[in-house]
Amino acid sequence: MNYPRLVLKSGRDRSARNRHPWIYSGAVKERPAKVGDGAIVAVCDNEGEVLGLGHYAPQSTLICRMFSFGKEESEVNAAYWEAKLGKALAYRNQLLDLSATTGYRLVHAEGDSLPGVVIDIYGDAASVQLRTVGTAHLTAAIQGFLQKELGVQHMYLRTETKEEGEGTWVLGQEQERSFQENGLSFYVDIATGQKTGFFLDQRDNRALLKSMSKGRSVLNAFSYSGAFSVYAIAGGAVSVDSVDISAAAAELATRNMELNFGPTPSHQGIKADAFKFLQEMEKDAYDLIVLDPPAFTKHISTVQKAARGYKEINLKAMQKIASGGLLFTYSCSQHISSDLFRKIVFGAASDAGREVRIVHQMSQAPDHPISIYHPEGEYLKGLVLHVD
Ligand code: SAH
Repeated sequence: MNYPRLVLKSGRDRSARNRHPWIYSGAVKERPAKVGDGAIVAVCDNEGEVLGLGHYAPQSTLICRMFSFGKEESEVNAAYWEAKLGKALAYRNQLLDLSATTGYRLVHAEGDSLPGVVIDIYGDAASVQLRTVGTAHLTAAIQGFLQKELGVQHMYLRTETKEEGEGTWVLGQEQERSFQENGLSFYVDIATGQKTGFFLDQRDNRALLKSMSKGRSVLNAFSYSGAFSVYAIAGGAVSVDSVDISAAAAELATRNMELNFGPTPSHQGIKADAFKFLQEMEKDAYDLIVLDPPAFTKHISTVQKAARGYKEINLKAMQKIASGGLLFTYSCSQHISSDLFRKIVFGAASDAGREVRIVHQMSQAPDHPISIYHPEGEYLKGLVLHVD
């Protein structure tokens, strides 16, 4: 197939040669003629050598997102996309136990060489995000694959034309359902829940917490679904408090607890501002604290402010946690690197004046892979700290 050419300026082909999928408009010498938003284009160097294929977005400074590298594919059709999805599924089959975990991310954008595409599976329901005009053309191919290979009967679609978070059911329709994660059960509401319904990226970190929570008094701050709380009880924690500023979230935590264990008097879902809660709680009340706040910054310009937010909650937790306590602390802000996060946590430890050791360093679960060529895909970072 001869796709329209997008030619890069001399010396601006390095990043595409290094398989970085983003082409910025400033690097482009010649735009393809007569093709519109969402078209497939062949990215070429100044000499005309084809470096790969991508979706064109002429209005954006991120003018092209590449989904393949090297010589031109013969034809990019439904079978091509299905093969890519098949590869994504094979990877999950390899790395996850899909008999105990029915909620997982099937496609993680650049991490699966599908920029703009995020697909989460919850049993026979799928949440699909197609964030560019080019990827919106894949709707039918994706739907076909999900029905055929995974028996999906409900598909909720969010596209770039809708407001953030808003979408439509293109197949079936469902309100709330439950799914399994490491053998534990959780409710998810794909259409109205936060993110695409559930924070799947923390799966392995929750399993780690389960293995370390026996006999502990746990505070789960910024708890949303209470998933960390459920794992804590499953791991033998003596008590767990789930704190979230949203009343619906605090209630969801309690419902998830009951879904797994029936009435659970050792758990409390508390609607409160976690900053205030950490400030006012008694010292030594908890010997395991989880801090999993929302991204305090979505933009590079507010990194400083976000850093202060992270420092504040970590400082309070370190001042109050019982001796021998474990602090599970996270940042999911893309603009806070793991180095910076560690520095922030260092600052908090130093101000708290406690002996703090790093027990584990954490990242996102393997169904949220990071292409080595696209380090921007790394967003979740966490530390398990031992505080004496
Ligand atoms: N740990 C959760 C995900 C947390 S998402 C899980 O594993 O599923 C972040 C949560 O923080 C959201 O539910 C949001 O309602 C809550 N939140 C935001 N600001 C808050 C604040 N100031 N105090 C308490 N909760 C807050």
